[in-house]
Amino acid sequence: MSSACYLHIAIASPLRQHFDYLPPKGATNTYYPVGSRVEVPFGRRTVIGILLNVSDHSDVPVEKLRPALKILDSEPLLSKEIMSLLHWASDYYHHPIGDVMQHALPVLLRQGKAAEARTEAIWQLSPAGQCADLTELKRAPKQAALLQQLLNAPEASFNKEDFNQQHNHWRAPLTALVKRGWVDERQQRGLLTQNTDSDSAPDLNEEQLAAIATTTANSDHFQSYLLDGVTGSGKTEVYLGIIKHVLSQGRQALVLVPEISLTPQTVSRFQRRFQVPIAVMHSGLGQAERLDAWLAACNGEAQIVIGTRSALFTPMAKLGAIIIDEEHDNSFKQQKGFRYHARDLAVLRARQLDIPIILGSATPSLESLVNVEQGRYQQLILSRRTSKATPPPIRTIDLRGQPIESGLSRTLIKNITEHLARDEQVLLFLNRRGYAPTLCCHDCGWIADCPRCDAKLTLHAASQRLRCHHCTTEQSMPANCPECGSSELRALGQGTERIESTLETLFPNIDIVRVDRDTTRRKDAMQTMLDKIHEGNKAILVGTQMLAKGHDFPNVTLVGILDADQGLFGIDFRASESMAQQIIQVAGRAGRADKPGQVLVQTYHPDHPLLQTLLIQGYPAFAKSAIQERQEIELPPYSSMVLLRAEASQRALPMAFLSKAYATAISCGSQGIELLGPLPAPMERRAGRYRAQLLLQASERKPLQQLLKKLLPELDKLAEARRVRWSIDVDPVDTL
Ligand code: ADP
Ligand code: ZN
Ligand code: ZN
Repeated sequence: MSSACYLHIAIASPLRQHFDYLPPKGATNTYYPVGSRVEVPFGRRTVIGILLNVSDHSDVPVEKLRPALKILDSEPLLSKEIMSLLHWASDYYHHPIGDVMQHALPVLLRQGKAAEARTEAIWQLSPAGQCADLTELKRAPKQAALLQQLLNAPEASFNKEDFNQQHNHWRAPLTALVKRGWVDERQQRGLLTQNTDSDSAPDLNEEQLAAIATTTANSDHFQSYLLDGVTGSGKTEVYLGIIKHVLSQGRQALVLVPEISLTPQTVSRFQRRFQVPIAVMHSGLGQAERLDAWLAACNGEAQIVIGTRSALFTPMAKLGAIIIDEEHDNSFKQQKGFRYHARDLAVLRARQLDIPIILGSATPSLESLVNVEQGRYQQLILSRRTSKATPPPIRTIDLRGQPIESGLSRTLIKNITEHLARDEQVLLFLNRRGYAPTLCCHDCGWIADCPRCDAKLTLHAASQRLRCHHCTTEQSMPANCPECGSSELRALGQGTERIESTLETLFPNIDIVRVDRDTTRRKDAMQTMLDKIHEGNKAILVGTQMLAKGHDFPNVTLVGILDADQGLFGIDFRASESMAQQIIQVAGRAGRADKPGQVLVQTYHPDHPLLQTLLIQGYPAFAKSAIQERQEIELPPYSSMVLLRAEASQRALPMAFLSKAYATAISCGSQGIELLGPLPAPMERRAGRYRAQLLLQASERKPLQQLLKKLLPELDKLAEARRVRWSIDVDPVDTL
């Protein structure tokens, strides 16, 4: 009897385990590639899983095992390297392996589609076509017109867009030309990115050259670098210099950027410099495009991969360096389902591959700064802007006792007027969209609350709607108070929409460009607005954090931060770090070309020590004192945190589950671990569900990880667990 053979398969399921199957019936081939897709029966369904390993052992009695149906790939789809990264991530974040594996695959592959890139038909004049006799086509004017188009560019190949532009019905006549032997038809792989004009690097300054030299001198080894460069210091040029070196070695580069910064401008900057196939990966892609990009990255055809968070999991045949731009950005942490941190996993991937990783930011995360301090990361500093402009001075405007017009102080309005008079642009930042965050009855005090959340509804004036920014609730704006019938309803507070309308009144002849999620829903809306801004005419830009990141607006000379106080008193321990990063990033939009800039920050707390340190001494000083504070009160990165969350439609259930979890943790042995809670979440009710949390904190990762290993299988068994939706968040970036 031949030795037994069991397939261990990862299947998307809430269960923290793999599933065992027998090889497909009648399989003659005994090669089962680990990392390939396997079709299996699962309950009453047929699903697609990933082969984790082939073993001579199964914990399940053989008579209970079913055979797999089909091995879908003859070669592994997920490389060994990615498989091991995914295993590690599943262990560390305590997320089921089946679901983790799904994250690494484009949707079409999860659905079982063949791992083949799309091709498109292209047409070209054949040698016979070059000397075709057009008189033969006298009675076929459509064919004649097509042939003429081809004859005009006898060497060129044409795709369907080229014909669509000039002809209504071209398929049939073109096929006729192919039949005559005058036109050749071929299938070609779709292009990854458009060809563009090329450009070349500027003369780099010493710091940029040093940063590139340091990282490339050691390019065969793992090392994490923190590229710490003030806004406009030319970090992207450093990335490009490093990538140039990587490409010259015949290797690929992976660049991860925050969701908001992955604009066509970003991609075209890389494209212009290198003229090599680039795969772009973000949530806006169609499924087929995503698959094409993924395959090109896998087989090495795409030499550069630029993507958001999940692009980290793309297998790449010859990865030579990883770059994370704006490494402090919280969008690298996935906040739902598989709650991983792409930056942290990227460092692990670089270590596995023994390649360098470069984390860049003007406002590095405190985590990364501590890693520098403790010698794990090497710091590369760009201390100067590349333009002549010196960093803009930042001043506060004390709002106390000032006349304020809809959120704009007199001082700010005066400054806006002056900058516009010089034909310059002004950028106003307010991280709140909509018209007003509160609608209130002047007579009885009624407030428009969300019926499903512990939150107020935001008034959107243009659409006359009330919307909840935490769930999907939407109502039309009432004409009268639903409590007392009064018509005296007042909008309290400011959102970007209201600032925009105030500005329209104050500056009737000036272009106002509002950039937030509401004005950029249409696909090319953001692009149109950016183009308008780049024309450089005097204008006021009003926006949320969408305007704060990565953009280069050469004619913006005044930046106004309308409300700096939002982050000063946040509940989350990272609130002040985020506030500081946001202020410095927005401020960095001022004076990037050769004109000096100015930044004004409106606040009711100009003496707040955090704000003082940040504005007078700058981000490094702020970070230093924030790090010291974290160390004193043992917050991350000086401790490790795990958040256990639960929610249900009845208030008592999450608390009951978490109390049980607390007791279970104690009985699992929780020495050295502090259990805080359970407590209702700061916003207890959201989208109709009550939420609560239990925080686990320890000075070291290890005991916490060990506890979770024992604790989670026990929690899975609790009766209380089945009555709630619960989740585990390792290294949460947001504890709300
Ligand atoms: P960052 O990514 O640090 O914000 P960028 O790399 O986008 O900075 O550079 C800001 C601007 O300065 C860009 O327009 C870039 O082309 C230009 N630039 C970068 N390095 C230099 C340099 N050494 N000399 C002149 N211009 C430069
Ligand atoms: Zn009322
Ligand atoms: Zn709501």
